[in-house]
Amino acid sequence: SAGRHRRAVVVGGGFLGLEAAEGLRQRGMAVTLLHRSGHLLNRQLDRIGGQLLQQHMEERGVNIRTGTAPKALLGRSMVRAVQLDDETLVSTDLVLFATGITPATELARTAGLECDRGILVDGQLSTSDPAISALGECCQRGNTTFGLVEPGYQQAEVLAGVLNGNTPDAEYRPVDTPTRLKISGVPIFSCGQISPDGDTESVVWQDHEQNHYCRLLIRNQRLTGAVLLGDTRDGPWYSQRIQQQDDISRYRNFIAFGKNYCEAAA
Ligand SMILES: Cc1cc2nc3c(=O)[nH]c(=O)nc-3n(C[C@H](O)[C@H](O)[C@H](O)COP(=O)(O)OP(=O)(O)OC[C@H]3O[C@@H](n4cnc5c(N)ncnc54)[C@H](O)[C@@H]3O)c2cc1C
Repeated sequence: SAGRHRRAVVVGGGFLGLEAAEGLRQRGMAVTLLHRSGHLLNRQLDRIGGQLLQQHMEERGVNIRTGTAPKALLGRSMVRAVQLDDETLVSTDLVLFATGITPATELARTAGLECDRGILVDGQLSTSDPAISALGECCQRGNTTFGLVEPGYQQAEVLAGVLNGNTPDAEYRPVDTPTRLKISGVPIFSCGQISPDGDTESVVWQDHEQNHYCRLLIRNQRLTGAVLLGDTRDGPWYSQRIQQQDDISRYRNFIAFGKNYCEAAA
């Protein structure tokens, strides 16, 4: 389609929508990306991080509209325009939706399994029928459903141990899986909390020349979240501090400068 058409609208500013927008742009299309939330990648980035990414993508030629959603697709035999919720019309030849996944639970419901948004499972990945297990994007543990491969791998490991009897008491607990992405050439890492709340402190470091951005969230001298754009090399180290809930008071003043500075100060 990109070969035959000139204009595209991508709906959804999550990582798949952004990758699709960048891919279509590279194929020479005029791309408009619509995102319902106020900033891009709102599940992985804080507001400033999302705005920096938007600025980068706009400089590369993608037209981005946040805080808006399509209301209707207009056209007779094929789409000609997207009507936005503020009635604006965006002319287009192609529309691509990347608005998230919904677990297909129909088969499970028909079989009498308990479902909510996904197929409900316990810590051993067992459904409400103990002879049936579920894992990956179709399942729901507590309130959490899954959209990346890493939780699926962790679930598979737990379930394998339960089924082969090696670790029958193993339990899967959803953890904050770090997200590592490269969008439009920009490395991105995020883990844990992404925006401050009433009782978190933020340490923000930004290098405008190099387009590096780092926000670290701290509560009671423990790291609770990390958002990195540009230079993400220290992402796994921050992620470990978050998972292990290490006391960072000895190197708190160096935290934004990463592993080497913090270890030297500790
Ligand atoms: C374009 C794209 C890019 C992605 N990039 C990333 C990435 O970079 N990093 C990342 O972590 N995640 C990424 N994801 C998400 C990742 O692919 C999924 O989270 C992961 O594949 C989920 O694994 P799964 O086994 O639960 O489901 P799937 O991989 O979807 O596998 C489910 C399988 O079950 C089959 N199936 C469905 N219903 C039935 C049925 N009734 N009977 C028999 N078979 C059935 C399907 O055909 C499919 O083969 C991406 C997803 C997409 C779409």
